[in-house]
Amino acid sequence: MLQSYTTQTAFTENTSKSVSLQLLLFVDDRNSSKNKIEEIQNYLKQLKAQNHFDLEVIEIAKQPHLVEYFKLVATPSLVKISPSPRHILAGSDLIAQLKKWWPRWQTYLEKQQENQKEADKSLANNKSVVKSENYSGDLIKLSDEIFRLKQEKEELLEQLKFKDQILAMLAHDLRSPLTAASIAVETLEMAENAPPNHNTSGLKDQLYSQTRRQFRIMNRMITDLLQASKQMSSQLHLQPEPLQLHSLCQEILSQLAHRFKQKNQSIQTDIPGDLPLVYADGELIRQVIVNLLDNAIKYTPSQGHINLSIIHKTTQKIQVSIYDNGPGIPEEKKERIFEGHFRLKRDESKEGYGLGLCLCRKIIREHCGQIWVESSYGHGSSFHFTLPVH
Ligand code: ADP
Repeated sequence: MLQSYTTQTAFTENTSKSVSLQLLLFVDDRNSSKNKIEEIQNYLKQLKAQNHFDLEVIEIAKQPHLVEYFKLVATPSLVKISPSPRHILAGSDLIAQLKKWWPRWQTYLEKQQENQKEADKSLANNKSVVKSENYSGDLIKLSDEIFRLKQEKEELLEQLKFKDQILAMLAHDLRSPLTAASIAVETLEMAENAPPNHNTSGLKDQLYSQTRRQFRIMNRMITDLLQASKQMSSQLHLQPEPLQLHSLCQEILSQLAHRFKQKNQSIQTDIPGDLPLVYADGELIRQVIVNLLDNAIKYTPSQGHINLSIIHKTTQKIQVSIYDNGPGIPEEKKERIFEGHFRLKRDESKEGYGLGLCLCRKIIREHCGQIWVESSYGHGSSFHFTLPVH
């Protein structure tokens, strides 16, 4: 990573056994600066003929983090990074400043070189390496930090984008129950103001119940969405226990019975009575099965067929499968639908936020199981997941 901002002779490589002068020249690419920079570089070339030093030229546009790191406020800037202490020269009279400081820098350098010679050779070498390594270490840390921040920024942008999408979907979905509720309230108002000889009590009851139903729908939408997005973004806290899948599935099926009926769909089951217990969090597994059945109902047309079956796959695994004869999933989208924030274009008009399968995957993975879909497009889908036997 360090190489990404060492453009010429790498100053970080200079873990030299003797102290040397190391300079960084920060330049910009403005036309107005070109002459100035050339002048400085020529001057440095002259100096180089007399004294050895390492110079690196850094374009500030390419390495803004280094500008930040050295807290530079003007270009061109010349930074002496070794021998310590660090010294920064900046501004239009840089050559004049350099003329003034050069002899002093040479004096520092000679002093440090002398000190080094006097000290025990190996100890001195170690010190020099440590100093140089400290400096390289700083840069590596800085560069890692920049990399981490960039990644964090991308993730945050992705989350923001998702939140915008969810908000837009919620606003869109709330509109129809809201409209239905407000029409009911307006009609109620008219019924209230009807002449006393009009018997409106039956109508009023109907309107009240219609309003209550619409409020319940809105409430469910908001609660479901908040719960799903909370579970998506936070750590799941599993509370696994020995779990009987047979009775859990029976409960779920009777809870969803009216939904199958509404769409005239048939539901068949194949759940052996002697299934071993699994070790799982009952509430979360209920959520997975409900989600998969809910999708099967939602995406399979009326009169469709749905099947829920469980097999004792190996001594250690139970496999739950939910089949439907709906529209299926295109081959290239079979992974994508589990990634979250994704819905097939053809299904965008159906209610949903594209979170369900992602949440299922998160839950199943937490249980050390697997979840996947098999489908030949146009010929139904089979969603499968596995759980460990208790
Ligand atoms: P949602 O159903 O809220 O959109 P999901 O994450 O549960 O979110 O599903 C993601 C997408 O996968 C759905 O929008 C749909 O396009 C597709 N999908 C899921 N289940 C089925 C299914 N049984 N049949 C066909 N398509 C499905």
